[in-house]
Parts: sequence; C-alpha cells; structure tokens
Amino acid sequence: AKAPQHVVEEARSKFKEFIAEDNRFEKARVLNLIQRSGLDSERIILYSRMGLHRSVLQVYIHSLKDYRAAEKYCIDTGRDNQNLAHNKYNVEEGKEGEDASRPTRAVLLNMLLKLYLEPGEDAKDGASPEFLSESLKHLLGNHTSQYLDPVETLRLIPDDTGLPALKAYLEGVLRAAVSRRRTAMVASKLVRAERFQTQVRYLEVKRKSFTIDTKTECAVCRKKIGDSYFSAHPPENTLHPTKMLLPSAKWVIVHKGCSKKYSDRKRAGRGGVSNVLHVR
Ligand SMILES: [Zn+2]
Repeated sequence: AKAPQHVVEEARSKFKEFIAEDNRFEKARVLNLIQRSGLDSERIILYSRMGLHRSVLQVYIHSLKDYRAAEKYCIDTGRDNQNLAHNKYNVEEGKEGEDASRPTRAVLLNMLLKLYLEPGEDAKDGASPEFLSESLKHLLGNHTSQYLDPVETLRLIPDDTGLPALKAYLEGVLRAAVSRRRTAMVASKLVRAERFQTQVRYLEVKRKSFTIDTKTECAVCRKKIGDSYFSAHPPENTLHPTKMLLPSAKWVIVHKGCSKKYSDRKRAGRGGVSNVLHVR
C-alpha cells in the first residue's frame, strides 16, 4: 500500500529541513543515497551546502527545467556582485569571513551561461537545445543580466550568434558603461573642486600665522630681526603686473623701529595700511 500524499509530503519537508540545517551528517553519503531518487530539491540543498554550485544549476536546468529558479539561485547565493559597475569601490572590509568563500553573482551566472552554451555531456538526458536557447534568451534579456561580467559573457558567446537577445544585452552593457563613465567624470570633478578648496583653506590658515627665525630679515633695513621688537604686517592681496589680484600668504616683518618707515612707504605706495600687529 502507498502512504497517503500528505504523509509523504510531511516526511519530505522534515527531511529537507534536516539536511538544510543539521551539521553532523555526512552530506556526500546522503547525496549518494538520493542521487537517482528524483528528490531534486533535496539534491539542490545538499549540493549547495557542499559548495557544488555547478551541480545545483545542472539540476535546475536539466532535471527541473526551471531557468528562472536557476537565475534566482545565482542572485540569492552569490556574493553581492559589486554590480560590476562599481567594482573596486564596493569592497566592504571586515565583511569577509564566510562571505569570502562564496562565489560572486557574476561567477555563478557565468557558470549558468556556460551550461547553456556548452552543455556537452550534461545535456544528454537533460534539457533540449530549444530549452537551452530559451533559457539563454531569458538570462540575457532580464534584469539579472546586469550582474553578468560583460567581458566573460562576450568571450563565451560565439561570434555567429544572431541572437536578438544578445543585441539587447549588449545595448544594455553599453548604456551602463556610458553612465559609469559619466559617474566617474562627476566624481573626478568633485575631487578636483575639493582639492582646490583645500588649497584655499590652507592659504587662509597660512595667512593667519607667520614664522620668524634667526634668519628673518627686516623688510625695511634688511638687517636680522634677532631679539629686537618687531612688527608683523599681515599679508595683503598683491596686484600682479597683469592687474590680477593675487592672494598672498606672506607676512612682512620689520623692526619695531622700522615700522613707521614701512607704513609711510606703504601709504605712499597705495594708500591705507592694514592692521599692524606689534609683537615682541
Ligand atoms: Zn629694520
């Protein structure tokens, strides 16, 4: 007598739960036992836990004939692909660990692509060429294709493929490349603007301070300042011969005794004296 349907289903779901979570059984042995049993989703669980992703995809395609599920597996199981658009920037440090051993979405999807394009022995009792070409069309034609590595994909796809899906895929790749370039351009402009602002800020800070050492000379009499009292005249924008106003960061240091002379000279030059700092 056959067990009623619901009993079989309950047992199967308990078994699935067990092989998905238990850590003490020998996965390879159980896999061997159910290999020819038609328990495809159970085989997928075991293959996946053993890191045999290619076998998982084979079951999806050749046994279950479900390319949507195969794609979903690549997306769900694969490490965030860094979307390939932002490849180098998305590497989150410290988030490695168990993640590091997991393949990326691009690697898994590449496996899937190979399964479609180079089925070889796998397809003997499996999916028909028609089904494989339909699967390929689906993969290239939906949002999942953004996680494919374009270079790898083009290497795999034979030159003589007259596939409309390929054309659409390539157009998508190009569009992404253009927008990536645009993003990079904006980023580099931002960096340049930031660098300029840093220079300005540096200049401003420099304008607020001056240094004086044993070699500092008085701007009026050209003798060393040494230990004597001195005046420090803050930098002023200087008028370049080309009539361009240039910011200057240079303080003028003079002996205190020479300070009046300096001010007179400056007043004669171009009226008005800025605040003078008298320091010992
Ligand atoms: Zn002097």
